[in-house]
Amino acid sequence: MRVAVVGGGIAGASLAIALGRRGCSVELFEAQTFPRDKPCGEGIMPAGVAALQRLGLPDGGGGVPFRGVRYHHGSRVAVGRFPSAPGEESCGRGQRRLVLDRQVFDIAAATPGVCAHTAAMVAGPEVENGRVAGVQVHGEVRRAPLVVAADGAHSRFRHRLHLNVPVPRSRIGARRHYRLAAGRTAEPWVDIFLGRGHEFYVTPLPAGEVLVALLAEAGAVSQPLEPIFDRWRAAPPRLRQLLEGAEPVSDLLATPLAARARAGYAPGAVLLGDAAGFLDPITGGGIAQALITSERLAAFIDAHRGRNSDTWVPAFERERQALLRDYQLLTRGVTGTSFEPGSTITVSYCPMKDGRPAGGIGWVKLANGTFLNPSDGGGDGSDKAVERWKGWLAAGYTSSTDAQKPK
Ligand SMILES: Cc1cc2nc3c(=O)[nH]c(=O)nc-3n(C[C@H](O)[C@H](O)[C@H](O)COP(=O)(O)OP(=O)(O)OC[C@H]3O[C@@H](n4cnc5c(N)ncnc54)[C@H](O)[C@@H]3O)c2cc1C
Repeated sequence: MRVAVVGGGIAGASLAIALGRRGCSVELFEAQTFPRDKPCGEGIMPAGVAALQRLGLPDGGGGVPFRGVRYHHGSRVAVGRFPSAPGEESCGRGQRRLVLDRQVFDIAAATPGVCAHTAAMVAGPEVENGRVAGVQVHGEVRRAPLVVAADGAHSRFRHRLHLNVPVPRSRIGARRHYRLAAGRTAEPWVDIFLGRGHEFYVTPLPAGEVLVALLAEAGAVSQPLEPIFDRWRAAPPRLRQLLEGAEPVSDLLATPLAARARAGYAPGAVLLGDAAGFLDPITGGGIAQALITSERLAAFIDAHRGRNSDTWVPAFERERQALLRDYQLLTRGVTGTSFEPGSTITVSYCPMKDGRPAGGIGWVKLANGTFLNPSDGGGDGSDKAVERWKGWLAAGYTSSTDAQKPK
């Protein structure tokens, strides 16, 4: 089976590795050259670490371990520790994308059966009789019975196949790396500081560095971004203290969030990773999702060798959706055995009033019985909104639109 893969990020490169190992012949096209950076929170969840180990990175991509996620709101902290098997602590890892993506791409390039190209920007699909028959690259057509588009959240392929669904660009993500002052170290947790209409993520990284990522309502952010990023990150006392004397070691990189696909495939082509849709990095699972779904796609391709992809791709897409439901449509009631005694967390995803495809409504119930909202959730986090949402959740609503429909 010959497969053309567009995009040598985590999804595309890991797929190429898995396919090469299964004896398929793969052409992998990456527009950039490595090392290349990308805006990301750089926290790899435990499922992603395990998938990286299966790919051939025994240390799960290196970096530094973290034990879970802590939400900070004012002086309150809710701790979500990753559930562990007895005697074995399950950890995520904080690793620079500059390092991680190069490692995965290098393994792909060294895998028998994989022909990996960098600086190879795919201009678009080659479509013949309504079917994708290959890709256009460097003015040539490279034919393949199956093309996998793993070209990221702003996928050109998704657009060119008319699979894109416009999403209002209502949230943005921005990140910068800092080297901590001598004597300061980040604790082994991803820390999330909740503000009004924005969150800051802090991920521990190797060499005394941390990644500080901002997720915010686009409307709340004025340009230039840098002064507001600096002002907001100085607000939470704990974050301010951690970054005292720290030196920025990268540029502030920003990107609009959210991308949506009408369908995950077209005749002769499949979308993978963020290209297939990307809601919001609030769950921090994008890398793990890309890795796990590419493992599954490789298994489908292998199991259906010689058959027209139209016969099995819908089944793969159903499985992909089911796999991601656990991450993306976290049902209300995902709770907390993994949380510290007395704290439970419930996170639901729902369509939002303003047209965004989904919003996280996260409810952290603290030991003292109070709630806090770790995401914007279509509400503003005020006590009034929390009370309103508690009633809606109790009544079984997962969307404010449904809850407010005239009966
Ligand atoms: C602000 C922010 C914070 C995030 N935080 C986290 C986090 O903490 N943890 C986590 O797990 N996930 C996080 N994510 C999500 C994560 O970054 C993505 O889910 C993940 O990178 C998806 O991998 P991918 O391979 O699908 O896409 P990408 O990593 O974007 O790779 C796509 C590749 O395709 C290439 N490409 C694009 N167009 C073409 C073309 N025409 N031809 C050839 N190549 C092309 C690009 O150069 C790129 O290398 C975050 C995302 C954002 C925006």
